[in-house]
Amino acid sequence: MSTFLELGVESRILDAIAELGFEKPMPVQEKVIPVLLLEETDLVALAQTGTGKTAAFGIPIIQKLNYTNNNTEVLILCPTRELCLQITKDLTNYSKYIPQASITAVYGGASIENQKRDLRKGSKIIVATPGRMMDLMKRGYADISNVRWAILDEADEMLDMGFKDDLDGILSETPATKKTLLFSATMPKEVGTIARSYMENPVEITIGVRNSGSANVKHYYYLAHAKDRYLVLKRIADYYPDIYSIIFCRTRNETQEVADALIKDGYNADALHGDLSQVQREHVMKRFRCRNLQMLVATDVAARGLDVNDLTHVINYNLPDDIELYNHRSGRTGRADKSGISVSILNLREKGKLKQIERVLGKTFIQAKVPTGKEVCEKQLFHMIDKIENINVNYHEIDGFLPEIFKKLEWIDKEDLIRRFVSAEFNRFLDYYRFAPDLNVDEKSEAKKEGTNRRERERERNSGKSDRNYSRLFFSLGHRDKIVPQRLIGLINDQTQNRDINIGRIDIMDAFSYIDIGNQYVDEVIEAFDGISYKGRPLTVELAKPVGMRGSGKSRDKSYGRDERDRSRSSSSDKKYYSENKSFSNDRKRQGKDKSSSTRERKRR
Ligand code: AMP
Repeated sequence: MSTFLELGVESRILDAIAELGFEKPMPVQEKVIPVLLLEETDLVALAQTGTGKTAAFGIPIIQKLNYTNNNTEVLILCPTRELCLQITKDLTNYSKYIPQASITAVYGGASIENQKRDLRKGSKIIVATPGRMMDLMKRGYADISNVRWAILDEADEMLDMGFKDDLDGILSETPATKKTLLFSATMPKEVGTIARSYMENPVEITIGVRNSGSANVKHYYYLAHAKDRYLVLKRIADYYPDIYSIIFCRTRNETQEVADALIKDGYNADALHGDLSQVQREHVMKRFRCRNLQMLVATDVAARGLDVNDLTHVINYNLPDDIELYNHRSGRTGRADKSGISVSILNLREKGKLKQIERVLGKTFIQAKVPTGKEVCEKQLFHMIDKIENINVNYHEIDGFLPEIFKKLEWIDKEDLIRRFVSAEFNRFLDYYRFAPDLNVDEKSEAKKEGTNRRERERERNSGKSDRNYSRLFFSLGHRDKIVPQRLIGLINDQTQNRDINIGRIDIMDAFSYIDIGNQYVDEVIEAFDGISYKGRPLTVELAKPVGMRGSGKSRDKSYGRDERDRSRSSSSDKKYYSENKSFSNDRKRQGKDKSSSTRERKRR
């Protein structure tokens, strides 16, 4: 392995990066730095976040700038404000001993006036998010006509965030002679298209296998019921008392809910998502960076640009829909050559998605057991004992109190004393976990259960039983009346003026329909349609019942299985079904109120 000196890095930059603790180049730097120092070339580098790519392009560019003029020579475009500030900070650090290397960050969500002022002073390097850059260019504050390098960082994210037009607009203002460097964690089709349209024979550099994720990350998953997701998260947090982790959720709401629950349960956690103001977001990120926070619950977008190296865990509260996102999430641990752990909390249904991710990443996920209550307690106990062993004792201040303390505890022997100290700290966990259930899902028994349930459901369907919370109503309207489910629901809403009515399965036949209604609303619906006509024809709405249940009194059997619906397609089978209130219909007939169109319907067939 080479040193930075051997790669050709000049002494002022060597001094600056030595101060940052960079001892040896990271793989992407080893590949990119010499190429950029020696050649004027386009370059595409496929590298994950955290692989050291900022220094890979930053160091050679800073070294090669022409400091005898005031032209802006480098334009770096990146997707988010956070990344923009991070790149600016990194480049400022690398160029610490090159005072002419002026760098301006241009990003949305901050005062445009300050940025105009900075640009007016002249910048060798502009680091920008595309939207704000476009804005400042239109207003005539950014001159990029002398740019020698255009660098697209996290190109895949920029495209994902819809910056394609801005990128086109900005790059069209740069000279044709400039070189384009494209850094991307992934290489979707769209990034390939960009590479082809903006570059000429680019040098291609790939760090690790395409889409492989960071090599030093181990991927684990916990299998639990969806309803236990949060409990599993708590177990993980309790099992790793020194956890320093980003917990990824899919939506802002979920992010806030999980963070709120953790805070309420006494964890050192907070939320990071797009509903927070910029100031709030920065505050949270700052607390997390300086480890005032142990757990950051975040959405994918909000966590972009958050540069933290020592995460113990990335936790996928649930798997992202997009495999690339998983790649991004897990790439946040195992950075800067450290090993990392990415864990996912899954339910059985998500296993398919896991298999897909495994295939794309070419990695096997290891199933981990959700720690039992006992295991958590044991871990916490020994963590506490370790703490006691290593604690900084302030002899000077404590010694003064000791005589009185010794006197007070005189009657307790050593073992009992230890027990009491341990209990003082530990009882909270013991209490919480005393009756804690096993949260692991046993796949085999679940599969068996699922098989049995399916068979039971099938049997129920075939035997004509269905959801006990619903009753099946007969409506004397069908395809012939141009009835569709929405129309039926609309009629029920109009007649009852009640939008809370639970409506379940709807089966529309040629001349009539069945519709499942929540039990508590059945009478309301039947009454609402009493005496109602539809297109001049009196409507019948009544409880329906399959053959074999005739005469079973008032009991509301609410089920019409598949065979029933199949039969209903054939006219002869219609006869096998009748409304529970057939006699009621007849009564009505007797009363001169012909509401038994269902009966008539069947007679006609
Ligand atoms: P990046 O991929 O540019 O976001 O870099 C990830 C992290 O690695 C940043 O915190 C850098 O400061 C750090 N880093 C970059 N290069 C080196 C190096 N050669 N040695 C140690 N750390 C580095």
